[in-house]
Amino acid sequence: PSVYGMEVITSPDIAYSDVGGLKEQLMELKETVELPLTCPDKFKKVGVEPPKGVLLYGPPGTGKTMMAKAVAQKTDANFIKVVGSELVQKYIGEGARLVREVFKLAEEKSPSIIFIDELDAIGAKRQQSSTSGDREVQRTLMQLLSEMDGFDKRGETKIIAATNRPDILDPAILRPGRFDRLIEVPLPELEARKQIFKIHTRNMNLADDVKTEELAKLTDGSSGADIKAVTTEAGMLAVREDREQIQMKDFVKAIDKVKGSAPRDEISGS
Ligand code: ATP
Repeated sequence: PSVYGMEVITSPDIAYSDVGGLKEQLMELKETVELPLTCPDKFKKVGVEPPKGVLLYGPPGTGKTMMAKAVAQKTDANFIKVVGSELVQKYIGEGARLVREVFKLAEEKSPSIIFIDELDAIGAKRQQSSTSGDREVQRTLMQLLSEMDGFDKRGETKIIAATNRPDILDPAILRPGRFDRLIEVPLPELEARKQIFKIHTRNMNLADDVKTEELAKLTDGSSGADIKAVTTEAGMLAVREDREQIQMKDFVKAIDKVKGSAPRDEISGS
């Protein structure tokens, strides 16, 4: 259900247990987003204001969207997603209005979680140049900041944003009361990769020779999204050869293929 530039999900089908690794990050998200939604009194009693906005940053495909969906599921909140680049490119001249509508919808449907992917597309540091495109981006950002400052007196809407480029963000975005909580979501370490392989092969028919520990060792530098792609590709190889079980050799081939096609390798190739 995509309503004119936003994706609204009443009950996302992602649970915390679907997210491999990222234990500390999930803890922090529970504390900053889940707890204020489920037990607002705790914060009132102590007299602290929970953050309105949390920024997840890190490389693509590491589980940022999944984490936001999982909190929404846990808190029975509506999940409203917008993508920064789409706000300013897809509907030219409509970015600011869309932002206003997203916040309006979020309040109507509270509790809700607004997820803004690619925040950098509207939140990059302001440049001197002013093409009409730049002005569009600026208007959209100004609208976002003013919505964040004004909205949600009852604390039933939370905003989670994601970016791969925290370094280029306008400092105004990171001010207190806006995205004042930053959580790094890095590429998965060995143990996390093992867990992610387990999660994505849960329903697969694996031969005895498949060892997730080995798979994790072979995929240093891969993201969760890469690992998901590997498991799908390995499954396809078994299907193609008309086998019921996926073997270790399928995974090894799949890893080569996915690594070969990863654009990250070209960018960071040293
Ligand atoms: P982007 O910045 O590109 O939007 P993202 O960090 O939001 O990426 P997700 O959309 O959450 O990444 O992940 C893409 C897919 O990769 C997920 O749907 C899931 O299948 C897989 N994936 C990524 N990270 C994990 C993880 N930590 N555990 C399990 N699966 C993962």
